[in-house]
Amino acid sequence: MDIFNDIQQEIAKKIKPDSNISNWKDWKWQLKNSIQSIGKFELLTGINFSEDEKARLKTTLERFPLSITPYYLSLIDNKNYENDPVFKQAFASVDELNVLKTDLKDPLSEDSDSPVEGITHRYPDRVLFHVSNICSMYCRHCTRKRKVGDVDSIPNKQQLLKGIEYIRNTPQIRDVLLSGGDPFMLSDDYIDWLLSEITAIPHVEIVRIGTRMPVVLPYRITDNLVKVLKKYHPLWINTHFNHPREITSSSKEALAKLADAGFPLGNQSVLLANVNDCPRIMKNLVQKLVQNRVRPYYMYQCDLSEGLSHFRTPVGKGIEILESLIGHTTGFAVPTYVIDAPGGGGKIPVMPNYIISWSTNKVVLRNYEGIITTYKEPEKYESKFCDRDCDNCDLDLQLDEADEQKALGIEQLLSDEDSTISLVPDNNERYNRREEDAG
Ligand SMILES: *Cc1c(COP(=O)(O)O)cnc(C)c1O
Repeated sequence: MDIFNDIQQEIAKKIKPDSNISNWKDWKWQLKNSIQSIGKFELLTGINFSEDEKARLKTTLERFPLSITPYYLSLIDNKNYENDPVFKQAFASVDELNVLKTDLKDPLSEDSDSPVEGITHRYPDRVLFHVSNICSMYCRHCTRKRKVGDVDSIPNKQQLLKGIEYIRNTPQIRDVLLSGGDPFMLSDDYIDWLLSEITAIPHVEIVRIGTRMPVVLPYRITDNLVKVLKKYHPLWINTHFNHPREITSSSKEALAKLADAGFPLGNQSVLLANVNDCPRIMKNLVQKLVQNRVRPYYMYQCDLSEGLSHFRTPVGKGIEILESLIGHTTGFAVPTYVIDAPGGGGKIPVMPNYIISWSTNKVVLRNYEGIITTYKEPEKYESKFCDRDCDNCDLDLQLDEADEQKALGIEQLLSDEDSTISLVPDNNERYNRREEDAG
């Protein structure tokens, strides 16, 4: 789709009769004119709801507010909006009020794993840093829906300094992921300040930014923003395309600017019922992404957040999609399908099964075509006993600053030097009885 095509011109003129292409391409103009009411949505799209529908939609908006950029609005197919993937991601549905008993307020327990406000520290070596509570568009499938519109703000420097302080005082953190809200809602100067503070911390090796701007407001990717970001390599940027329809000439331009500036680009999709739960749509999406130098990174199973039940698919749908990708298209176009564990266990990868059987020296596998094959394992393999004493090992790991952490979880069960033979859930009745008997 062209930049400032007829539909976009029409929307711009309805917003303000004298607006032109330079208004349209100004991200602040887009923000100022984002669509937050049903009335304005009707006016700009020509789509009309019945009084009854409107009343029910208003109740939905009281709980989960609406915000759509004029740009993203212009991608909606007005004639077929009920089946439109852009409409479904952007415009409220009365189904959002359908909260199931099994839905959770904070399914990923981000608030429980938060040592200071704004930081979620879940994995040993990396943190999620929520640096903004706002977005240019409120995705209807947002996992942090509970927070949307709640405290619509950009945290002040004092609040952010607390997060920075935590990172500075926690030397295990080598990777900082800026998220939100959308970090690119911050001004260029503020981003500059924030990145200069974080990258000045000696143990921070990489910074990543998660943003949906290339999808919902590509004009935010300005030359000046890129100039600021370029000072802070290695900086990785992850975005969130869910459907090939979102890849337009404007979003391509934004991605090209970022790729040309040397940022490795990734994409995180969410598997959504009636939006992209189709092997052909997903294949088309990932192929378009790699054409634009974006590596599909994750495909998420939809979380258990409140108000998302109408978007969820069975896990089998994700597996089916992977079956149609693995082997069928470029290896690096295939995202890792993950379920973010409810309760805060982190992302768990899920895959089709490829191992059919196993003996002491052979593995039986099947490929994407269904061909069954065998891999002969070595008759002789002497495993090295690992006591994590790298200085006295034949393998050459120059361990000047390598991590000395103990093995964790399943890694611990596999380790030679650790005598743990099982991981036992807390409060196991049988183990409690053993202790009582012993005591
Ligand atoms: C997703 C996530 C990360 C990053 O995980 P990667 O698998 O390294 O991309 C870090 N912290 C939290 C809380 C997350 O949800």
